Amino acid sequence: MKVGIVTIGNELISGKTQDTNSSFIARLMTVQGWRVPVAISVPDDEGAIRVALSYCMSMSDAVVVTGGLGPTLDDITTAAIAAAFGLTLYTDESVLANLKERFKNFHLKWTDNNAKQAVFPEGVETIENPVGSAWGYFLKKDGKIIAVVPGVPSEVQRMVPESVVPVFRRKLETETSYIESRTIKLSGITEARIDQILAAVNFGTLGVDIGFYPSFPEIQVVLTARCASEKEAKERIKKAEICVTEKLRQYIFAYDQDTLEGTVAKLLSEKKLTLAVAESCTGGLITDRLTDVPGSSVFLERGVVAYSNESKKDLLDVSEDVLRDYGAVSEQVAVLMAEGVRRRGGCDLGLATTGIAGPTGGTDEKPVGTVFIALADGTRTHCRHFSFRWGRRRNKAITSQTALIMLKRYLEGERAHE
Ligand code: AMP
Ligand code: MG
Repeated sequence: MKVGIVTIGNELISGKTQDTNSSFIARLMTVQGWRVPVAISVPDDEGAIRVALSYCMSMSDAVVVTGGLGPTLDDITTAAIAAAFGLTLYTDESVLANLKERFKNFHLKWTDNNAKQAVFPEGVETIENPVGSAWGYFLKKDGKIIAVVPGVPSEVQRMVPESVVPVFRRKLETETSYIESRTIKLSGITEARIDQILAAVNFGTLGVDIGFYPSFPEIQVVLTARCASEKEAKERIKKAEICVTEKLRQYIFAYDQDTLEGTVAKLLSEKKLTLAVAESCTGGLITDRLTDVPGSSVFLERGVVAYSNESKKDLLDVSEDVLRDYGAVSEQVAVLMAEGVRRRGGCDLGLATTGIAGPTGGTDEKPVGTVFIALADGTRTHCRHFSFRWGRRRNKAITSQTALIMLKRYLEGERAHE
């Protein structure tokens, strides 16, 4: 199946807003085993919307349209679609009532222009928005399905997987075709190296497609099988997954929707261990990621951002002498940070980072990207030295990733310094 994408908004083509909806939807469709032959961004302009829709429909079996469903005058997607297909507009009374109720619940003042969000082209099937006020809708034309959803990325990220994908699947997949896919998430290895290692596996013979999707600091390997039966599709994916896992085991940290922080959280909770984190160069990123996991208060006792020497002394009991003799970015300081935060938090584990994120602050001896990560468990403290070369933001991201992987390996019973 082929799915075209049209993103609508003046801000998308003026460079003001980056079009993240296209990449999100394209990725999601690809994971289903569908192809995206075209993705176009157009302004809030009736003529441009008509041409884009017709072009996308000529190349696809289904189209996802995002944006321009707001209550304000500049949002004209629904009127443009109705005009393009010669449909009249109507007000859906149940959506209108739902919107008014929503405004009341959120203590927002209802103004008449909000009623615009209950107006749809005739013959559509509406799509409820669980996280916003703009409802979407499905429209059928010439045997193709068009799904129209609002532009707000968080709404797209709920509505397209939850409401659009199942309908596309039901309406457009032939009954005898079943698709199974598996996403394998890896870190600490390049895409080229993965490709090289997996060259020995003949995925074609296994009847499985393989795709690589780097999303720094991780790489996702997506396996897709399309077969007549669900059982066969699952079996093919299982075989391919075993091949990938055997060859790349040490780099794999999660599958499908799972995240690294989610995996670490699960391990900590299962083992009933508590954690305290002391962050210098990551500036709170590790704690931020861990607190993204619901229920993280069960295992996370504290996250301390200790950036200055003073704070490392005050909050983590790092001694003045060690700071002076070895410098803040050193194995000795990382170890004391991990031990200090663990002891102060009264926790089972202490995790600490110190490093030079760049672009300034490097020396010949300790260039930009020098990072020490330490993990203390009260008996031993492991510390590893890394040299990252990615630029400030990416150095922070890769450091948080590496620290969480060290913790994951420790929790899985592997040696933390491997
Ligand atoms: P709209 O649905 O057109 O009213 O857009 C609502 C918000 O979502 C605005 O802040 C837009 O800038 C943003 N937005 C709309 N389309 C996209 C897109 N394709 N990618 C990222 N943000 C978008
Ligand atoms: Mg808009």
